[in-house]
Amino acid sequence: MNNLRFRIFISIIILLIVGLAAITLLFNYGLDRYFSDYQMQEEAANINRLERQVTEIYETDGEAAVFDHLEQFARINQLEYIAEPGNDHMDHHEAMDQEMMDNRWMRQGNGRRMMQSFEEADLSQGYNIVINDRDFGILIWPERDGQPAIYSEIAEQTANFRNEINSFILPLGLVMIFAGGLISFWLSRRLALPVNKLADEVSKLGEGDYEIEVPEKLSGELRRLGLAIKSLAGRLKYLEKIRRESAADFSHELRTPLHNLKSTVEALEDGILEMNEENLESINEEVERITTLTGQLTELVEFEKKLTDINIEIVDGSQYFSGLLNSYKKKAEYEKIDFNYEISSKLDKINIDKQAVEIILNNLISNAIKYTEEDGSIEVRVNLEDKDLKIEVEDTGIGVPEAEKDLIFERFYRTDRSRSRETGGSGLGLAITREIVAALGGNISLEDCDKGSNFIVELPQ
Ligand code: ADP
Repeated sequence: MNNLRFRIFISIIILLIVGLAAITLLFNYGLDRYFSDYQMQEEAANINRLERQVTEIYETDGEAAVFDHLEQFARINQLEYIAEPGNDHMDHHEAMDQEMMDNRWMRQGNGRRMMQSFEEADLSQGYNIVINDRDFGILIWPERDGQPAIYSEIAEQTANFRNEINSFILPLGLVMIFAGGLISFWLSRRLALPVNKLADEVSKLGEGDYEIEVPEKLSGELRRLGLAIKSLAGRLKYLEKIRRESAADFSHELRTPLHNLKSTVEALEDGILEMNEENLESINEEVERITTLTGQLTELVEFEKKLTDINIEIVDGSQYFSGLLNSYKKKAEYEKIDFNYEISSKLDKINIDKQAVEIILNNLISNAIKYTEEDGSIEVRVNLEDKDLKIEVEDTGIGVPEAEKDLIFERFYRTDRSRSRETGGSGLGLAITREIVAALGGNISLEDCDKGSNFIVELPQ
């Protein structure tokens, strides 16, 4: 069992045990405190009821009925009842040992104390029934273990209740720990597995392998983290690649115009060429080419600087894309090209790097405008398909010959068709776009369509 998983598992089990122990302790503490109080209150309510009853009986049927009722009550509740000594009703107790009765009576302190609540009364002295200042004697709880039986009864009931509940808690606790164990086993596996997979993927970076896969099972924040790492890896790969290739690419691209320039200038020097407008124009063109290239080199360097800032955000896709695409609509319509877009309604929460998506869209739509004739049309579709954000840019322009469909994504590659147009492209836009898309873990392709081109970008979500 790996570390993170084990820790999650153990944490949940410890949490369960501590929770159970806390509940048990609280329960036992609460039981001692409140259950005996509750029992005592029940008993007090019983006596209060008795007092109300005998008050009524006293008022309606007179004293003798009260004594009878108290005796009956004592019998039913297994209490002892001692009527006031000297009372006429004493003959009811003729069988009772007079000495014992007197002793109890003495303990009661002449039986003339003030009426007090049952809970406050010292029950070892019995409970004095006084109605309308008339003393009706004492109810005495039989003694057990040197105290009124009611106390030990309550203590016994509390203990029984506690034991019963505690005997439930142990097996219940075991079942809970077992069930908790199973759940935490499953949960720890579910949480730790994708994280470990991601960690394995990330560790590949150290070995120079930039192909990071975001585990399918990752969701929420972890998925965002995975995408951010994948994007970082893609960018690292890109930076590594351009570090290797840039110098070669640019020196290669510069060589042709510089060579042309050199030979033209030499020919002018040697008098082979005339210093006329045509030859000066050709020199000017080569200088323009070099200027454009160095300008793009600067752009590329600027862009690569930004590549290290990863910023995957959760964005409301509909709002974001409609804002962005509206600005291109104006641009296209200025070139007399019809521009339409279609945004799916499922894009309320998508994970994207806004800056990167803007560069991608800008390159694709600018190309579509550049390579589409007047009265042509451009359609952009944004959709969510199989966990991917799918962006399609379709135009009715000059299209790309089948054989060159892959080549156009290479740096500085331009098709002959485009070269014949005065578009001034450098052949860098699509190469940059492909690298950004790869950096985001996505894919770009040029699909067949009736007329023109259909570029499809898929970005993982
Ligand atoms: P640029 O457009 O600056 O030349 P890109 O890298 O953007 O460079 O494009 C490379 C080449 O791919 C272009 O020169 C052009 O030949 C071709 N291309 C790109 N987009 C389109 C398009 N929408 N329609 C036709 N050809 C295209």
